[in-house]
Amino acid sequence: MSVSGAQVNEAGPDRLGGGRRPVPVTVSHGDGIGPEIMGATLQVLDAAGAALEVETIRIGEALFREGVSSGIDSTAWGSLRRTHVFLKAPITTPQGGGYKSLNVTVRKTLGLFANVRPCLSYAPFVSTRHPGMDLIIVRENEEDLYGGIEHRQTPDVTQCLKLISRPGTERLVRYAFEAARRHNRRKVSCFTKDNIMKKTDGLFHQVFDEVASEYPEIESEHLIVDIGTARLADTPEIFDVIVVPNLYGDIISDVAAQIAGSVGLAGSANIGSEAAMFEAIHGSAPSIAGLGIANPSGLLLAAVQMLVHVGQGDVATAVHNAWLTTIEEGVATADFFEQGISRTRVGTEGFAAAVVERLGHRPRRLSSVDYPVSTEPIQVSPRPRPRPVKQLVGIDVFVDSTAAPEEIGHQLEGLAAPGFELVMITNRGQKVYPDGIPETFCVDHWRCRFQAPGGAPVSYDSVLGLLARLGAAGAEAIKTEGLYTFDGEPGFSLGQGQ
Ligand code: NAD
Repeated sequence: MSVSGAQVNEAGPDRLGGGRRPVPVTVSHGDGIGPEIMGATLQVLDAAGAALEVETIRIGEALFREGVSSGIDSTAWGSLRRTHVFLKAPITTPQGGGYKSLNVTVRKTLGLFANVRPCLSYAPFVSTRHPGMDLIIVRENEEDLYGGIEHRQTPDVTQCLKLISRPGTERLVRYAFEAARRHNRRKVSCFTKDNIMKKTDGLFHQVFDEVASEYPEIESEHLIVDIGTARLADTPEIFDVIVVPNLYGDIISDVAAQIAGSVGLAGSANIGSEAAMFEAIHGSAPSIAGLGIANPSGLLLAAVQMLVHVGQGDVATAVHNAWLTTIEEGVATADFFEQGISRTRVGTEGFAAAVVERLGHRPRRLSSVDYPVSTEPIQVSPRPRPRPVKQLVGIDVFVDSTAAPEEIGHQLEGLAAPGFELVMITNRGQKVYPDGIPETFCVDHWRCRFQAPGGAPVSYDSVLGLLARLGAAGAEAIKTEGLYTFDGEPGFSLGQGQ
């Protein structure tokens, strides 16, 4: 089989998809176990009659070694921008050395805002404590702490910026509800930590509630992420669709895949409005690379999602049912083989051959699947909103100092006028001035809040004047944050204890 610049399959008339025009897709074979599981996956797709015109690209470790710090070059981008469909094997992210995650780069560059991960158990054929588990996690893919905007600001303190946007959240949440509607799911659950992060996670929760009200036939609920994760690990059967910000989604989707049976069994789709990427949820497993024992299932199930996406639902149905039959007949790779449950232990190639042998079969005990031959992609976009009236009402100035809070407070109070008063100083979010207590542990990073008396609007010029006075007095302002109101509502949080 040729996979480079050639068709995986010529779609002969006796096979599924016969006569179909091949769909161009970009494929990368990845690092570690990537080439083995991609070879196995393409073999099954070929045998099932997928009509694909494969463009192979090189990304990842080889490029990192050649000094391409992003791990992806313009040739690869050219292919991705041409095909807009990417089947990707896992890649190895080098440790240290300032390398950015290639996965994050691809997701963000192509605008793949939703990571969709079905997590279900295959009991009794794959060992799990949760035989009734069948849920979909829809994880935000571009925002949150994954902007990678990090700074060391003082000898003591580093920070990472957490960004949550209304349009980014809205299209994700709409996607989750539309997916729930399409797949006849009864409930969408949202996890955030908005009891602590009232502005960022608070916005995510608020948008969730707004969008949920447009889908009255679907139950909706919000849980604080800690108890939500605990319930997910304990009773995953109570969940149906879960929609979450990026970091929580990263964590809970691995928890969910692991308790379903194995991280080797789950695939995921990264969906954008223009492009989509399909991959296994696991990494490149370098310790078993080249041994021929890796489980190709995660990538194969991702490829099933890709076939549905490109309008070859009949081929997806055939591959998925053959895979379920393989699982049901006790054929297992080492990672999920279990004495007494599994029957035949196979390697990567043996597993692919077993799936190919079962094409045309349907599982007898596990539920079989039936995808519509062609499915319109779910299209979502944020609703236009009038821009609110934005008003500057003060400034938070972050100062690097080893002095005591009282000393900093007295100095800055003297510099605040004209136009401002020092409202408070916090250290790592905790108010320490005025009225701090000596027990509070402090580092060299102080957030000093200046506002006009009575919370009146301030001008940008007056802020520049304040900063000039602070600079002249030797106060090192390492960062500032404007304090704004939006239609009169404060856009900033209070200090802890304020
Ligand atoms: P990993 O998922 O590669 O491996 C975790 C464990 O699961 C290992 O014991 C591994 O042997 C096993 N495993 C994973 N996939 C398997 C499969 N298909 N069959 C059998 N066993 C399997 O996670 P890791 O070790 O933390 O990461 C290894 C490398 O992969 C790192 O460089 C990491 O950055 C990268 N990574 C890439 C992706 C991606 O490309 N999407 C995702 C996660 C990690």
